[in-house]
Amino acid sequence: MGQIQASIQRVREKLAQLEEKYDRRPGSVRLLVVSKRRTVEEIRFATVAGVVDFGENYLQEAFGKCPFLEDLPLIWHFIGAIQSNKTRQIARHFSWAHSVDRLKIAERLDRECVGRPPLNVCLQVNISGEKSKSGIDPECLPELCAQVSSLPSLRLRGLMALPAPMQGFSAQCRSFMEARRLFEDLAPLSASRQFQHWDTLSMGTSNDLEAAVACGSTLVRIGTGIFGSRPV
Ligand SMILES: *Cc1c(COP(=O)(O)O)cnc(C)c1O
Repeated sequence: MGQIQASIQRVREKLAQLEEKYDRRPGSVRLLVVSKRRTVEEIRFATVAGVVDFGENYLQEAFGKCPFLEDLPLIWHFIGAIQSNKTRQIARHFSWAHSVDRLKIAERLDRECVGRPPLNVCLQVNISGEKSKSGIDPECLPELCAQVSSLPSLRLRGLMALPAPMQGFSAQCRSFMEARRLFEDLAPLSASRQFQHWDTLSMGTSNDLEAAVACGSTLVRIGTGIFGSRPV
């Protein structure tokens, strides 16, 4: 437990340093702790350090853990690939979905949220140009944004990027700058009411944290940097 708390403290300090180094407003980068393949106990230790935002990739796994943490006011973020037959459970049990990349998924999530608090949504964009990766093609992004922003039970918050792992600050920045440009190009739409919550650029993991903050990330998703390498 002491170890998890210490690593969270270290990541927080690092984030504060990076905010200062890259002229970002203090506290402008939110820490999402990625708890996939971590136990209920490990998550509890993280909450002792004051973490409330947790990210999970796999629905079944999340369901094995969330019920045991219901006594805590946690905010659950779904960050894995979304299958259309899983939208109901995602809408019911998560506050955020970071990985929406198709209208069909967005429409299903929207329907499942009727009469419930709105679901915060980021559109996952494919910036690494890799054919196999999930995420929407940047060319199709403006249209998807317009469509998703008109769905009444979703709150469109911004973009999510998960570039292919790369070594080196400048290579990492190339991808992240592309995401940032897309994020900013879409921001003028935020003058419209449907777009008023456009405030989140979800990018950066343990491996490319610094580049992400340098390039304007507002939410970093950190797993191994806090818990150590994941059990297989
Ligand atoms: C696993 C995962 C992360 C965290 O990666 P780490 O290298 O463990 O920090 C972030 N985002 C997504 C979408 C992930 O699946």
